[in-house]
Amino acid sequence: MSTKVAVVTGSNKGIGLAIVRALCKQYQGVVYLMSRDEGRGQEAVAALGSEGLKPMFHQLDINDLSSITTAVAYFKDKYGGVDVLVNNAGIAFKGADPAPFDVQAEVTLRTNFFATRDMLTHFLPIVKAGGRVVNVSSFVGYRALTQCSPALQKRFRSEDITEDELVGLMQQFVDATKKNEHKQGGWPETAYGVSKTGLTTLTMILARRLSKERQSDKILLNACCPGWVRTDMAGDKAPKSPDEGAITPVYLALLPPGATDPHGKFVSDKEVQAW
Ligand code: NAP
Repeated sequence: MSTKVAVVTGSNKGIGLAIVRALCKQYQGVVYLMSRDEGRGQEAVAALGSEGLKPMFHQLDINDLSSITTAVAYFKDKYGGVDVLVNNAGIAFKGADPAPFDVQAEVTLRTNFFATRDMLTHFLPIVKAGGRVVNVSSFVGYRALTQCSPALQKRFRSEDITEDELVGLMQQFVDATKKNEHKQGGWPETAYGVSKTGLTTLTMILARRLSKERQSDKILLNACCPGWVRTDMAGDKAPKSPDEGAITPVYLALLPPGATDPHGKFVSDKEVQAW
């Protein structure tokens, strides 16, 4: 049997690192810690090594298309693809950051939505039959959804929204913030929230496509919220440790062979949530 392989983006620290730690303990295969910075990535590999764990390393900056395609070629060549993909890499501006809202919108959506979409565009074709794909989204994306205009909410919840339509809507939000017209356009005042609304909606669109176009491959693709977790992003007042935050993403990454659900869902605390 060919070697199973799991890859986790943005895993040099925080929840991603905890996901790699848990997969090293629980996954019957090779686990790749991926970081945009080689040095930070190798340090994290060494830290897990001192815990007796042995992840592999591959550089990956999701904002750099050539970095994505280089990684895809590597995994295709070495393993014939990947079995588990966890899209964990993400960014959030701090509440006190003085950057103007339109800059925050452009930068946040570039990584959390557009670059994660690039990851899915290029990696999904090499996810093997029986594969598991997990997009680390957030409850903040659900809250942002409920703060959108009824018309936008209807589109994000619809079964017939296409990837192109979603990409257009995300770009519309970014463009509207430049003219300070996003509120009139029915958008909430949260760039991070909208980026995660987009990511969860994208998960649902791509899951429907997998069911249609690769049904026999039985790949399960879900979005999740790890909870509020003590990391550089969320600060030290959050109730969950990174290892606790990793529980739901790892549960989705390790859904047993033959499982048919959840698929195309938003999951938190191992439970499917309303959308
Ligand atoms: P974190 O500690 O700030 O870690 C974020 C990770 O993403 C870092 O490894 C970072 O790398 C990496 N990253 C950022 N941009 C990247 C890029 N372009 N390419 C590759 N890697 C990139 O944050 P976290 O709290 O662990 O967050 C992990 C995920 O959970 C994010 O998607 C976040 O939105 C989501 N989330 C977090 C919470 C929470 O309470 N913490 C709640 C809900 C959802 P560098 O070290 O190089 O910057």
